[in-house]
Amino acid sequence: MKLILFGPPGAGKGTQAKLMSERFGLPHISTGDILRSEVQKSTELGQKAKGFMEAGQLVPDSLVTEMVKKRMSAGDLEGGFILDGYPRNVAQAKTLDEILKGGIDRAIYLSTSEKVILQRLTGRRVCPKCGINYHLTNMPPKKDMVCDRCEVDLYQRPDDKEATVKNRLKVYLEESSPVLDYYKQQGKLENISGDLDSREVFELISKKLPALSKK
Ligand code: AMP
Repeated sequence: MKLILFGPPGAGKGTQAKLMSERFGLPHISTGDILRSEVQKSTELGQKAKGFMEAGQLVPDSLVTEMVKKRMSAGDLEGGFILDGYPRNVAQAKTLDEILKGGIDRAIYLSTSEKVILQRLTGRRVCPKCGINYHLTNMPPKKDMVCDRCEVDLYQRPDDKEATVKNRLKVYLEESSPVLDYYKQQGKLENISGDLDSREVFELISKKLPALSKK
């Protein structure tokens, strides 16, 4: 199954994608994670993307699309995948349809309120080693600000600071939300509340995808 997890920043796309990937054995492709790793390695792509990411803006389509094409041509996606963070505008959605020929199977939209988004993102802390997300109040680590698994210090993503979060939301409303209509018109959109607890969201997703759940 070729799935997209779509929604505003802080909707829980990464969390759900990880759970789904574990349950259904589908590779999880996060364009944000790939870009962050390029920035960390200071590659040419990373250097070009860094400023856009820190300002909460979209990285230009030409850069992201090349990166997605490369990932899509790896040999591990025949059984499907979960795409998280792409497409982020209608041009990217069209490009994805071209890359995949038959298009995607389903786009799962995690609709989430602004209040929940702000609370989640500004409290999010991440392990630099394994990438697991924690939250200062919703899901604190066992020991003070240290990853339970890797025992390294957690950090706050620079784009999770409040001012940048507000900018990311604006970018989402202006550039990304039209993608919803694109998939609605194709009859591929599934709507799920992203405000719920992550386990409840995961159960709803699993119910909505009977073909996947039987696997
Ligand atoms: P995310 O981890 O999905 O929130 O992505 C973090 C940042 O990476 C975004 O705010 C963008 O700057 C950049 N990014 C990730 N995916 C895309 C995309 N499909 N198109 C453009 N920029 C992206």
